[in-house]
This record gives sequence, structure tokens and C-alpha cells, in this order.
Amino acid sequence: MKTSFFLKSLPALAVAVVVGLLSSCSGDRSSASIKVMLLTGQSSKYHNWELSSSLMERFLSEVDFFDVTTVVSPLSGEDLSGFNPNFSDYDVVVLDYEGDGWSEAAKSGLESFVSGGGGLVSVHATDNAFADWPAFNEMIGVGGWGGRGDDFGPKIHWFEGKAQLLNTPGSAMHPPKHDFEVITRAPDHPIMKGLPMRWMHANDEIYSRLRGPAQNVTILATAKADKTKVDRGTDNHEPMLMDIRYGKGRVFHTTLGHCNLNDDESVPALNCVGFIATLQRGTEWAATGQVTQTVPEDFPAAEAVSVR
Ligand code: ZN
Repeated sequence: MKTSFFLKSLPALAVAVVVGLLSSCSGDRSSASIKVMLLTGQSSKYHNWELSSSLMERFLSEVDFFDVTTVVSPLSGEDLSGFNPNFSDYDVVVLDYEGDGWSEAAKSGLESFVSGGGGLVSVHATDNAFADWPAFNEMIGVGGWGGRGDDFGPKIHWFEGKAQLLNTPGSAMHPPKHDFEVITRAPDHPIMKGLPMRWMHANDEIYSRLRGPAQNVTILATAKADKTKVDRGTDNHEPMLMDIRYGKGRVFHTTLGHCNLNDDESVPALNCVGFIATLQRGTEWAATGQVTQTVPEDFPAAEAVSVR
């Protein structure tokens, strides 16, 4: 389902009423259905929200117990004052949004949803958004660009066997896109359990030197620029996948998933089985705290990328 926010509001309300009636009859919500809101609608000139969100809508819908609704915000520069999604109708909100600031009502709606136990997933350039929204920065742990300078809290990286905060100068950057190795750092975490310790991710940006409050963050996987392939990049193991806790809520932050304005549906970074499977698993975990999905047989190995 994909529609604009305003067109969607009335049917969504009707559906919510029906679901409310059904659940009051059966006593509880069926565990066979996790209600996922994919929220998109704006990106900077460096990204293509229409392409990334359409691919993510497809990937999420492949999970048979996900009930996916795509909510499209007003476009960049349009009036956002009436944009206030009903987060509480969902179990988890997946953000593919890098754009204009929201109203106070929408911001406090998301804060209440997550702090009250709702799930949140932040994908790639979403962590470029909302630098001036303190609670959002807490929810995503660390972010980059959009006004985040050297004084925007510590960086976080993996060093000597554990996550460490880094207060040295230097704001967000990424090396040119290349295939790189992702290293699992929390193999017993539900999202990571059963995944290879090392796997190759396809042609993506390694978001580096992200900064923020960096509180309540568990690094799930890291990557380091391969200097044999690219001429830029930090020498740090940068966080690629993270678990952040905000109140009673769980946040899955994936920095993976770049697509350009001129990319097409075959864009490798999103069609990488590693991106797809961790998005699907992270969304379930953010919603429920568990992952019941099996690891796909075509998940990439240490030697080569695997792109669908
Ligand atoms: Zn990007």
C-alpha cells in the first residue's frame, strides 16, 4: 500500500477502527501480523527516496507476517504543519526520510511512540535528518551531516575488541562506494544470530565519523574502508548496524543502503542480500525484540557479494 499522507488518513482511520473491534473480540493481536509503517517522502539531492522506499517496501513485504503501509510525507518545501502520522497504529516505524523538519506534534508523537515501547528503524541517509531535534539524535545514537559538526557529541567506533567513544575532530564523511567487508560484533544479538562473522556488502558508502549522544548503543556490525579499492576513508572500524534503546523502545540503525538519483532498481547496495536480510530482521527485532526469520541461503559470504 502506498499513498500520500492526506489521502491515506481516512482509510487508515477506518482500518484502525476495524482492527480495534477485531482485537477487542479476540483478546489480543495476532502474532502473525506485525504492522510496519515505512515513512518516506523526502531526500537530499544525493539520494533517491522514491527508489529506495519502493525497494524497501518490496523487501519488507516479502516477510509474510509484516503488514506494510508506506506513508509519504509532503514533498520537500511543501507545508508539513499538518503532517502527523498515527504512529501508535503500528508496531514499528521504518524511516527512509532525509528532509524538512516536522511539526512539534509529529515529533512528540514519534518520541512517545518509541519511548513507550514502539520500534524504530533508521535507514542510511535518515541519520542525516533532524540535527536540531535532540530526541531524534538520542534515538539514532549517532548521525552525520545536516549541521552535525565537531562539537556534536562523540564518534563511536570499534577498537581493541569493544565499542569506544572518540572525541577527536572530524565530521561525517564517506569513502567512494565500493564492495567492503562487514564484520559482526554482536553474534548473539537476535538480528545477528546465524549470520556469518564476515560478509561482503555490495558497492555502498561507509558512513564514517558519525556523531551524537552515542548513548545506549550496541554496535552490531562494523566496516572499514578498503584502501586497496578507494583512496579515502578513516582507518577506524565504523558502526554499520546498531541497536539503540530509547525509553522502552528498540531502535535498529542501519547506515547501509545508498542509492543515487540516477540509480535504477538494480542498485547493488540495496539489492545486496546482506542489506535486505538485516533490514527484515532488524525491523522484526525493533517491533518485538525477537527474530524468527531464517537466514537466507544466498546471504553473502566472506569472499563475495550476493546481490538479487
Ligand atoms: Zn548515501
